[in-house]
Amino acid sequence: MAKHTCAICGAEVGLLSEQKLADGNFICRKVCAKKCFKALDLVSADLDTVKAHHEQIDFGTKVWNQIFVPLKKTKNKEEKLKSLGREEYIYVSPSTGLIAYTDDRYKIFLFGKTTYACVYRIADLYGYEYEEEKVKNSEGKEETKCYCRLLFHNTAGLYSFRIGVSGSKDYDDVCKYFDTLFGIQKTLGNMANNFKSQLNAAKSIADTIKAAKDGTLDEAQAADTVNALDTAAYGDRTALIAKADAALASVK
Ligand SMILES: [Zn+2]
Repeated sequence: MAKHTCAICGAEVGLLSEQKLADGNFICRKVCAKKCFKALDLVSADLDTVKAHHEQIDFGTKVWNQIFVPLKKTKNKEEKLKSLGREEYIYVSPSTGLIAYTDDRYKIFLFGKTTYACVYRIADLYGYEYEEEKVKNSEGKEETKCYCRLLFHNTAGLYSFRIGVSGSKDYDDVCKYFDTLFGIQKTLGNMANNFKSQLNAAKSIADTIKAAKDGTLDEAQAADTVNALDTAAYGDRTALIAKADAALASVK
């Protein structure tokens, strides 16, 4: 059997210990694949996406510990976090302009857990779409699970994932919360036709960010891609961007 090398840490991997990525690279299951959030589909991800996702977790976890953990205990009403979703959920921090998507990992035989996080600017949220999935429960009966899929622009790594909702009413509440935050009248949720093109736009922007990092793209071009988004439809997000960038710049 052919042996491969993990494209990130260099460990030797074989059939059972390797994860093949979309671009044909292999990474090790033990460390490098395990570090990824489950929401990232490794089969369709390429090596650049996985590397960007690792950076996203390293930085996001710092932001979680330095900004979100203190805010969980705040008595200041204006700074309170809003938790959205069930089972799979996010923490929204309007006062800092940030959203945290967390993953608690438990160590077997050890008490306590470690929380890892991907942190997003609220202003980069460009879609919240209703999703349903039929699953078999523990008794073998089919049941429908409902989700709200979030889509972020200007984001390399994990830029789309879903949170659980109890049904369409619960989903409407999530939409209403974000619509109010962005000051938009017509909801961004349930725009099925738009959503596909949004997803493609997010992909192209992720690529643009990658190209900008490699120095193969000038900054003006990157800015154009981002500015192509219609502010009229998505609300004025200037204040949210300023807050988020100030908060992120404070992270050590
Ligand atoms: Zn590895």
